[in-house]
Amino acid sequence: MTSNGTDFERTPGGAVLMNGNKLRDELIANLRQKVEADGNPEICLATVLVGDDKPSQLYVKSKGKKAVEAGLQSRHVGLAATSTQAEVEAAVAELVADPTVHGILVQLPLPDGLDPEPVLDMIPPAKDVDGLTERSMGRLVRGKPGHVPCTPLGVMRLLDRYGVETTGKRAVVVGRSTLVGLPQVLLLGRKGVDTTVTLAHSRTTDLVAVCQEADIIIAAAGSAKMITANHVKPGAAVIDVGVSRTEAGIVGDVDFETVQAIAGHITPMPGGTGPMTIACLMENTYAAYYMANPR
Ligand code: NAP
Repeated sequence: MTSNGTDFERTPGGAVLMNGNKLRDELIANLRQKVEADGNPEICLATVLVGDDKPSQLYVKSKGKKAVEAGLQSRHVGLAATSTQAEVEAAVAELVADPTVHGILVQLPLPDGLDPEPVLDMIPPAKDVDGLTERSMGRLVRGKPGHVPCTPLGVMRLLDRYGVETTGKRAVVVGRSTLVGLPQVLLLGRKGVDTTVTLAHSRTTDLVAVCQEADIIIAAAGSAKMITANHVKPGAAVIDVGVSRTEAGIVGDVDFETVQAIAGHITPMPGGTGPMTIACLMENTYAAYYMANPR
């Protein structure tokens, strides 16, 4: 790929393929170089997994692997599904107090019967590399320094890397969760990004018409293939965040086959936003080290 974007990989229909695996690898390699240039400080990401949910185990494993590739240290705390609230909180308290741990990620959801809120509340903003605690979200709203949630941040990196114009453009975010949709709206509306954003959800009337007005569609609903060619204005950028596990395998919110024929840019699923979430987690962990150890 060149910086002018003329030879980006394209889909059969001619849309630029926003390759999240490729960009993740670039970001991780850059991070490794930065860590080496800094003299290899010991920057540690701690992951906490409660229970034995298979997809969560896979996510945590791949986060640990990518941390090492980025030149970071990875520490894993695995707790039994039968752990009590107090045991989970004690494990997190230990990581909060440990100066050799710079970023803490508690894999959600926690098993039934455990309340994630008090656990997340324990993580100070500097170590909250997932950016999902109340204090981090408050900082995002207020425009103060802090960690930005990894999935919407990864979407912004994809838009930037693949040269999608944002200033003065219209964007629609489908989904209003605090994990993805809400922070995504804030990031798209920031000064310097400057899109005019519409937040759509399950009560939105005539979603097709709302999406047809958009230059950028970010689908984060978790509803398999709900965004079809019908929703898409020719040339729009379509970013798929949704993940649905179906009998046919993992499926996104976007009907890739039909949409790629009309979109200007499109993410694949898998290989789009998922890898970018992990890359941004590593970037946040690197930044966390320098929050604790200002240069
Ligand atoms: P969530 O908390 O379940 O929120 C889903 C949102 O989508 C809700 O706001 C819901 O509206 C809206 N929605 C659902 N069906 C809709 C429809 N048919 N039309 C319009 N809006 C609809 O989910 P989440 O945590 O934000 O995650 C969203 C998806 O992204 C999931 O599939 C998740 O697995 C995936 N995800 C992917 C990554 C990644 O790295 N790629 C990271 C995180 C999450 P209401 O508010 O009205 O109910």
